[in-house]
Amino acid sequence: MARYTGPSCRICRREGQKLYLKGDRCYSDKCALTRRQSAPGQHGARKGKLSGYGVQLREKQKVKRYYGLLEGQFYATYERAENMKGIAGENLLQLLELRLDNVVYRAGFANSRKEARQFVTHGHFTLNGHKADIPSMTLSVGDVITLKDKSKASEKFKGIQEVAKNAPGWLEIDFEKMEGKITALPVREDIDLPIEEHLIVELYSK
Ligand code: SF4
Repeated sequence: MARYTGPSCRICRREGQKLYLKGDRCYSDKCALTRRQSAPGQHGARKGKLSGYGVQLREKQKVKRYYGLLEGQFYATYERAENMKGIAGENLLQLLELRLDNVVYRAGFANSRKEARQFVTHGHFTLNGHKADIPSMTLSVGDVITLKDKSKASEKFKGIQEVAKNAPGWLEIDFEKMEGKITALPVREDIDLPIEEHLIVELYSK
């Protein structure tokens, strides 16, 4: 399936929840969900009761879209999570948080995950000093992402320091070097979106 290229706000309206897909705009009164709560489309205002399957499906779609993954990538991540020790749902969220594009976003080097993915594929970052242009790479504790010297002068990365102040506890940001280090594994409490990951596990376990 091709990557969704339509309006990001439409996705939030479909899920009925802010998914923070557009950076600064999401925190302003220009947010489309603040202005219009109904789902997109001609019959979007109609609200029917969802079945158990429908609730599970919507939860999976929400998380998949929050991290900007396609179905195949998301399911492959779930399969990895299921084969790890511990709780499959929490493992899934941890693997999603440790994706290179998400780490770039969480570090404050990009305004949204979509922008972070673009920065990664355009080769603006190194991982432990080496080329890293695959957004889906899973990082580990001790890994360091660094903005390349030639990218530091770019307008795109102005104002990073302000955003990086909000980095989660498992990431340490060095403003001087423009780098982020993973100091611990992200835990469930580090994910700020209300997610019921057990619903995704139930969906895929059918
Ligand atoms: Fe979603 Fe952001 Fe658009 Fe609001 S502005 S609807 S949070 S993508």
